[in-house]
Amino acid sequence: MFQAEIKSSIEEDISILLKQDNHPWNYICECGNASSLTVKEIRNTNAIFISHTHIDHFVNFDTIIRYQIGIQRKVVICGPKGIANQIQSRIKSYTWNLIDRNAIIYEIREVISDSEIVIFEIRPPVWELLEIKVIKGNTIFEEKSSIVTTVLLDHKIPTLAYKFEEADAVKIDITSSTFKGGSWVRELKEAYKNNGNTRLITIDKKEYRAEKLFHLLHIQKGDSIGIIMDHIANTENHKKIKKHFFNCRKVFIECFYKNEDKELAILNYHSYAKMSAKVMREAEVKEAIAVHFSRKYGESEITELVNEFNHSLNLFD
Ligand SMILES: [Zn+2]
Ligand SMILES: [Zn+2]
Repeated sequence: MFQAEIKSSIEEDISILLKQDNHPWNYICECGNASSLTVKEIRNTNAIFISHTHIDHFVNFDTIIRYQIGIQRKVVICGPKGIANQIQSRIKSYTWNLIDRNAIIYEIREVISDSEIVIFEIRPPVWELLEIKVIKGNTIFEEKSSIVTTVLLDHKIPTLAYKFEEADAVKIDITSSTFKGGSWVRELKEAYKNNGNTRLITIDKKEYRAEKLFHLLHIQKGDSIGIIMDHIANTENHKKIKKHFFNCRKVFIECFYKNEDKELAILNYHSYAKMSAKVMREAEVKEAIAVHFSRKYGESEITELVNEFNHSLNLFD
């Protein structure tokens, strides 16, 4: 399971921290100004996902590098076309003569199109940007049991929406049998995954054909979580969102404007309460959460906006 925590208050820019069960590292989604993001969380992060580099999504990058410098390992930064040069420009506005070349390495993954990613590397103290390779597809990040895929949305510039997905897992229900746990459980799961129906599994010195024990197993669907930031609420974007995030367990979606400010949303290539809810409903997302509100609203207006969103989520018009 993924655990997601919004690290910004409603008056601040957006930043969301993701953690995965039984996994040591954090992921930071969006680098907006977020006062709840702690130094420890920043230092324990091994990948940062940025939708686009409007200042409200990128301003906190300086704080992140401030606390990550010296961790002596690689951190991946994912973002849209041009982000590698923008990161280099940000970093080069400081002086680094006392910093060792192994203090940190940033691997920057730049999404050029829906099917192409360019990978760069940059490290202190010179911070020269090196292009490493180009990869095909939309899988921008991979761990042993999860992947992150992207889709490009239109916000007058391309913005990236991210989906974090766990692989399905084979689980066992020992309590429905008379057996006790042991190394045979792992062997049985391996036999199941590799079509080893006739493999012999030894439990308590007695041998069983694997297929005779398969009824103890079931597939647990992997968790999925989406982060959809700034986009205009048009047909093309909604088509992409519905396809990419269909049936996700949880999605955070930008909801910049109230319904009465629909014209502003269109003008500024943003979404608004009713439309963000509509696309979440049509994508059959199990839990949709409205985030990232215009700074023109005070606390009570944001409450109204969220109510509009939640109200539309439950309508079928
Ligand atoms: Zn924006
Ligand atoms: Zn924004």
